[in-house]
Amino acid sequence: MIDEKPVAATTEEVVAELRKREAFVMVSHVKPDGDTLGAGLALGLALKRLGKRVHYFQGESIPRNLRFLADADLVSNVVPADFPSDALWVFCDMSDTGRAGETLPQLSRENILDIDHHLGNAHFGALNYVLPHECSTGTCVMHLLRAMNVPITPEIATCLLTTIMTDTGGFMHSNTTPEVLMLSAELIGSGADKEQITEEIFANKRFPALKLLGRALGEAKMAHQGRYMWSFVDDAMLAECHADGEDTEEIIGYLRSVEGVEVAALFKAYDGEIRVSLRSSGRINVQAAASRLGGGGHFRASGLTYVGSLPDAIAAVDAALVAEGL
Ligand code: AMP
Ligand code: MN
Ligand code: MN
Repeated sequence: MIDEKPVAATTEEVVAELRKREAFVMVSHVKPDGDTLGAGLALGLALKRLGKRVHYFQGESIPRNLRFLADADLVSNVVPADFPSDALWVFCDMSDTGRAGETLPQLSRENILDIDHHLGNAHFGALNYVLPHECSTGTCVMHLLRAMNVPITPEIATCLLTTIMTDTGGFMHSNTTPEVLMLSAELIGSGADKEQITEEIFANKRFPALKLLGRALGEAKMAHQGRYMWSFVDDAMLAECHADGEDTEEIIGYLRSVEGVEVAALFKAYDGEIRVSLRSSGRINVQAAASRLGGGGHFRASGLTYVGSLPDAIAAVDAALVAEGL
């Protein structure tokens, strides 16, 4: 059988391209998280120190708990009119350009650099720095910065440590390897503010988030002999708790943490769409399950957007999980 797995760009190739270009647009994915933003901001801050022009593109607003990151106030969906047409658009932490949202302008492939750690990345760029064994897109960026010999300032270090702490769940997920801890130690040594990251991202919950968690846990259902736990959040629940989408983040972790649960799902049916978060304890590949329904992600954490009704979404996800061995 022919191995059709796409070949990733080498660190040297990407560094040469970063040195060659003069202007960059950092692109983060919709519903931005600490990895997609932290990776782009860290690379942008470093490139600016090399005298390059940098813009940060994001179609939505920055979540409250990530506004402390350096340059987060510069992120916008408007690219300055005089921005060079040969700017390199650097996509961070996404498998395909669709994840950048509908406000993304038309781009030619030669102006795209894809930096990512997702399984099943579509290799949509001229260069694809796709390293699925990395814990975060931020650690991919860290390898590039090291190869370029750019100094890691405290601001850059905080952005990079944010990517690691976000995607390892505060060093708790199975992707927390010895190397990840060594990189983190190096970042703290460079001035990364671990306390601030902990405070802002993990310890700064709003009261509405707590009430919403209670509501969602109240709706939780167990299936498949206790191996599957799922719940949902809809517009009415958000209104009742005075909560918004940012307040849903913690819920899926609680569902997954229940004894005997192998897969957890949270159906987020609000704002006119149904987005599904899936988490696995390690036996079932939820990236494969999400891919069956047009989504993606990682072995243990994935997501998808379902077009249809909530009952249909619940049935479709159940079937996809069963097909993956649940
Ligand atoms: P979430 O549950 O939203 O935190 O997402 C978990 C993982 O699944 C992340 O790595 C996302 O990049 C990925 N993911 C979430 N939604 C989608 C989607 N609609 N398409 C592809 N990947 C997704
Ligand atoms: Mn992400
Ligand atoms: Mn990531």
